[in-house]
Amino acid sequence: MHQPDCIFCKIVKGELPCAKVFETDHVLAFLDIAPVAPGHALVIPKAHHVNLFDLPEEAAVRLFAALSPVGAAIMAATGAAGLNVQINNNAAAGQVVFHAHAHLIPRHEGDGLRLWSGHPYADNAAMQAMAAAVRQALAPSR
Ligand SMILES: [Zn+2]
Repeated sequence: MHQPDCIFCKIVKGELPCAKVFETDHVLAFLDIAPVAPGHALVIPKAHHVNLFDLPEEAAVRLFAALSPVGAAIMAATGAAGLNVQINNNAAAGQVVFHAHAHLIPRHEGDGLRLWSGHPYADNAAMQAMAAAVRQALAPSR
């Protein structure tokens, strides 16, 4: 259930401190120690799962169920006008701690945080080909 070298498992076990904001039997939320903005929190399953793809459906449901109340509380506490939910999966996507976690990032008008910039497909055929490739990849499991 826990990985000995995982810092989030150590937080769950109380071996490392955290600024806890929410807890259930299965989920823990605490402030990020290097926040994008004050109030930036992490919501994690207490059981060790590497990322979104390693998360059993029941654990995913419990994790996502915590996002709305915790996110709303962060907005209320910070006076934020918005909130981003972000889950980074694998190093290429910026995942640093390999225990699944959702970032809750409070947002304010004009705070300057830029998430990403869009680049249109070359044409509709290219977009449809990509959609077909994703559907094909899903097909064996659906
Ligand atoms: Zn862990």
